[in-house]
Amino acid sequence: MILEQEKILNTYFGYESFRPGQQEVIKRVIQSTNTLAVMPTGGGKSICYQVPGLSLDGTAIIISPLISLMKDQVDSLLALGIPATFINSSLSQAEQEDRMAGVANGRFKFVYVAPERFESYGFIQVIKRIQISLVAFDEAHCISQWGHDFRPSYRSIVPNLKQIGNIPVCMALTATATEEVISDIQELLHIDNSNVINTGFARDNLAFHIVKGKDRTSYIRSFLERHTDESGIIYTATRKQADALFDQLESRGVPACKYHAGMSEQARKQAQAAFIHDEKPVMIATNAFGMGIDKSNVRYVIHYAMPMNIESYYQEAGRAGRDGEASDCILLFSPQDIQLQKFLIEQSLMDEAAKQNEYRKLQAMVNYCHTQGCLSSFVLDYFKDISFHKNCGRCSNCLEKVEKTDITEEAQMILSCVKRMNERFGVSMTAKVLKGSKDKKLLEFRLQTLSTYGLLSAYTEKEITERIHFLVAEQILGTEEGKFPTLKLNQHSIDVLKGKRTVEMYTAPIPTSEDDDFYKDLFEELRARRKQIADELNLPPYVLFSDVTLKELSRYFPVSREDMLEIKGIGEKKFEQYGEVFLEVIKKWREKHPEAKTRVKISGSITPPKPKKREEEEGPSHLVSYKLFQSGKSIRDISAIRDMKTMTIESHIFKAFQDGYPLAWDIFFNEQEEAIILAAKEQIEDPKLKPLKEALPEDYDYTKIKAVLVKNGLM
Ligand code: ADP
Ligand code: MG
Ligand code: ZN
Repeated sequence: MILEQEKILNTYFGYESFRPGQQEVIKRVIQSTNTLAVMPTGGGKSICYQVPGLSLDGTAIIISPLISLMKDQVDSLLALGIPATFINSSLSQAEQEDRMAGVANGRFKFVYVAPERFESYGFIQVIKRIQISLVAFDEAHCISQWGHDFRPSYRSIVPNLKQIGNIPVCMALTATATEEVISDIQELLHIDNSNVINTGFARDNLAFHIVKGKDRTSYIRSFLERHTDESGIIYTATRKQADALFDQLESRGVPACKYHAGMSEQARKQAQAAFIHDEKPVMIATNAFGMGIDKSNVRYVIHYAMPMNIESYYQEAGRAGRDGEASDCILLFSPQDIQLQKFLIEQSLMDEAAKQNEYRKLQAMVNYCHTQGCLSSFVLDYFKDISFHKNCGRCSNCLEKVEKTDITEEAQMILSCVKRMNERFGVSMTAKVLKGSKDKKLLEFRLQTLSTYGLLSAYTEKEITERIHFLVAEQILGTEEGKFPTLKLNQHSIDVLKGKRTVEMYTAPIPTSEDDDFYKDLFEELRARRKQIADELNLPPYVLFSDVTLKELSRYFPVSREDMLEIKGIGEKKFEQYGEVFLEVIKKWREKHPEAKTRVKISGSITPPKPKKREEEEGPSHLVSYKLFQSGKSIRDISAIRDMKTMTIESHIFKAFQDGYPLAWDIFFNEQEEAIILAAKEQIEDPKLKPLKEALPEDYDYTKIKAVLVKNGLM
């Protein structure tokens, strides 16, 4: 049976296979089993009701909380030649009646409505009389009071549905359900545990980065220089920040627009449209922007400042990469952000208990900024994601920190300067003293007499400031907040001053998009053509074809209908509508570029070139060691080649195994040795290695023991 559904996925949507969870959901819905799908943003929830909606007889009713999303979805379906419509308060009365008449005649396969529609007697009367294929609650967390966007009208649909009576199956879909919300939805819509399909929250195409101690505006400028033409959102914490950043970037000719609640509705609408229609690639906004934006080709989301909690962060950052393409989520962290968020909580009208709760969530956000571990795993743990996850290998903590520099001496100078200044000044005055500035205020305070005056005069004031910010971000230097935040020493500062610990400053490289295995100029031509057609039809460009599709076209340049149907996102329906036009663009381009090499796409298996990995060529350090090991080198050789301790190489290799890579264990031990070590381990309570080693024969070294423990998941 699922074959038929695969055919629909192919013909209409041009996709080759189902994504995780889709098939399980679709199968249940087809069998009239109420089902809940919990999938991450961009996981492909729409397909879960669109495929059964096309497969079953009758009209599918989709309940969606956001008017703008309905329009997008309907436009996408219409672009595929599927009869669909939406009915909501944005339409005139006459238009609503006209569409309702269409619904009554069974003209549509899909009807999108806002929850309030179920309070209309007329609406209920009409749908009572038609054949319904399914009812889907999109963004189903809105149904629960435990959810973050509770909509009472969503909940009150349920009793109204009961009186309709001719509904064969209900389904619910959401990306943001906690346990409470899930069981609430289950109870309301009568969904058994076995019919909850939860694929977790992981977003494998997003790379998270934390950037500390950098001048934010310069960072953003450098980033944008490397990402011209790519769409992205920059979130600021306040309207003021948004205005200031917008002015700075605009004056440098960056094609940006801005969006916040302080602007007129008209101006906001215009900004949003310019962004969605690919006219301005950069959107600078507060968190007022983004709800109901389904733009699929957002390649990066930068947070200019730390947001208030991980929920908001993940939701905002998650607007990147809905199309499944690799995208970056960057958080520019500065310790002042914590103060700002605390202030915002303090100022709010929440009661004391609610405030405490917000402080707790804020602390988790701060911990995220300071963790040394994998950022993706941190977030998934925070959401108690049930699926198995390991280090992502993409985030700024998993990637090697490049450009490490030892700044212990500079740090000591900075710290002793703070001490000499009696911990009474902030970052900028401290930097001025170290620089040896002739600043008027500095002279007034007679700070030029300090022994640390001009100690770092070889550096620019900005470089000194950056180092101070870095020390604060790393909690090597504390701050005390008042009207003017001042620098304070803490225990870590003392350790550094006493030479008990060193300080290494690192800079994570600015992420760049490296998938250059397609012809960029052809991509640009296709994009221009897409934009032209989209404008004629008054549609967002990504509704016609996603960027993924255009990239595939510029990689394989198909010449025929058959070739074209092999491209991701082009099924027969899409081809009928736009295929020829794009074939024409490709043909013309090829005439101009006869040297361009054709690549053949054979169902699913892509012939060379292989897409480049987005990590540096080599990949994470432990995998570099692992690969050398697999190529036959001994641990000692690798340690010589890489100039690292043998212990480190060993742990690299074991880590690779824990990441799921295969290892030939017989290099480390034989069966008998394994049995002896495991038996000894059984006897010894102490989890440390030393007692175990002592209990074993002399020739059992640490490597052998560790290997057995790692293999057996005991370490
Ligand atoms: P969600 O609602 O879960 O956030 P969408 O339904 O908007 O996600 O889908 C996100 C993107 O993934 C869309 O561009 C969609 O066309 C694409 N997509 C969905 N299912 C598949 C699939 N099986 N293969 C390839 N792309 C898919
Ligand atoms: Mg969706
Ligand atoms: Zn990671």
